[in-house]
Amino acid sequence: MSKVYFIGAGPGDPELITVRGKNIIESADLIIYAGSLVNAEVLKYAKPSAVVHNSAKMELREIVGMMSAFVQVGKTVARVHTGDPSLYGAIAEQMSELDKAGIGYEVVPGVSSAFAAAAALRCELTLPEVSQTVIFTRLEGRTGVPEKESLSSLALHQATMVIFLSVGSMDKVVTELLVHYPEDTPAAVVYKASWPEEKIIRGTLSDIEEKVKAAGVEKTALIFIGRALDRGSMKAYSKLYDAGFSHEFRK
Ligand code: SAH
Repeated sequence: MSKVYFIGAGPGDPELITVRGKNIIESADLIIYAGSLVNAEVLKYAKPSAVVHNSAKMELREIVGMMSAFVQVGKTVARVHTGDPSLYGAIAEQMSELDKAGIGYEVVPGVSSAFAAAAALRCELTLPEVSQTVIFTRLEGRTGVPEKESLSSLALHQATMVIFLSVGSMDKVVTELLVHYPEDTPAAVVYKASWPEEKIIRGTLSDIEEKVKAAGVEKTALIFIGRALDRGSMKAYSKLYDAGFSHEFRK
């Protein structure tokens, strides 16, 4: 049965697409990719006869119409999104429209930029006894954010936070976070994680805005906040590999 595959292309480095994602791109008859952030390198896996479109120039109706037309004649469609499609991927509206049209689809996960950036920072987001919670969020832009999820209210938890789509408003981010996080809370910004032009900026809530400005980073970056960014704040090692701790696989 032919269908639409929503594929996470990963954060940028073409080696960070999944094996399944690559296999589907290789066999796809139609590829529609999110041109603003998907690395064009992953399109090189496409077969020569594949029809390829950049969705940045298309409207929802056009995208869904084209995908449906291909599936209806038995062709395979790869709808390629950046990172993992479930985070700020705008796939929900496409799936709803495909449901209405009775077109089948499947989602193939990808490596989110959040995890590529955490890897670049070489940090464990869930540091034992420091934070066991990660909040993925954003400032409101043209897309609104529910009032209950304002950065200042999420800051109350002082959990590890990963902020998408907001580096262009560092002043607002910092002001809202300082409502609850202390000024010396570690902060980092990762620009284009896993791309050759990747940049890492580290600081604290008191100086990160200035450092980001000095580096000229205004988009395609993630903001990380929290004590977990500083391994020195680790109060205990995890029990998992502790010699005195037995579990199912190690008595
Ligand atoms: N689904 C994607 C996110 C799409 S929203 C994912 O899982 O990564 C687009 C935002 O993601 C950008 O504004 C930026 O905040 C972040 N982003 C995407 N790719 C990035 C990268 N390689 N490095 C840093 N941030 C990135």
